[in-house]
Amino acid sequence: MYVKSLTLKGFKSFASATTMRLEPGITCIVGPNGSGKSNVVDALAWVMGEQGAKSLRGGKMEDVIFAGTAGRPPLGRAEVSLTIDNTDGALPIDYTEVTITRTMFRNGGSEYAINGTPSRLLDIQELLSDSGIGREMHVIVGQGQLDAVLRATPEERRGFIEEAAGVLKHRKRKERALRKLDAMEANLTRVHDLTGEIR
Ligand code: ATP
Repeated sequence: MYVKSLTLKGFKSFASATTMRLEPGITCIVGPNGSGKSNVVDALAWVMGEQGAKSLRGGKMEDVIFAGTAGRPPLGRAEVSLTIDNTDGALPIDYTEVTITRTMFRNGGSEYAINGTPSRLLDIQELLSDSGIGREMHVIVGQGQLDAVLRATPEERRGFIEEAAGVLKHRKRKERALRKLDAMEANLTRVHDLTGEIR
C-alpha cells in the first residue's frame, strides 16, 4: 500500500487543480518559504478526515478554501482526492486502487466519497484505521511535534502506542456503544414512568 497521488483543487494556496503523483518509497517536497509545502501535508490530513481547524493551521474550517489573491477571486469550494494503491489489500475494501475525496463548500458542510460513492466520515475513518493510517494515527508529524512526543507523559506515550497498534478504532466503537446504552437507559426510564402513570 502506498499513496499514488494527491489532487488539490481550491485547497489553500492551490486554486487550480494540482495533482502530485507519488512512487513507492520516500518523497521529498522542496520549495521556497511560503510556497505551499505544508499546505500539501494539511491536504493529506484534511482528506483523511481532520476536523480541527487548528491542526490545519487555520482559525476556522473554511480557511482551507482558497481565499483569493490580488489577481484571482476567492473560490467557493475546496476539494482534495487521495489515491492509495491497495494491490496488497492492506485496506479492507475490494479495490486495488482506492480514492478518497473530501469536498467542502464555503456555506458549510463537508462531503466524502470513496471511489466516487458518497460516504460518511466514519466510513473513511474505519477504512483507514485498520491499516494504521488516518488523521489520529500520528502518521503526520508536524513541525515541533517531535519535541512534544519526547516530552510526553507516560499516559500520553501509551496513547500513541495504542493508536499505532489499532486500539483506537475499538475504543471509538466502545464509546459509541456506551453513548447508545445511555440513550437506551433514558428511554427505559421514560417507559417505566409512562407505565407507572397508566397503572
Ligand atoms: P515554510 O517553508 O515557510 O514552512 P511552506 O512552503 O510550508 O512554507 P505553506 O505554509 O504551506 O508554505 O503555505 C503558506 C502560503 O499559503 C501562504 O502564502 C498563505 O497565504 C497561503 N495560503 C494559506 N491558506 C490559504 C488560503 N485559504 N487561500 C489562499 N492562500 C492560502
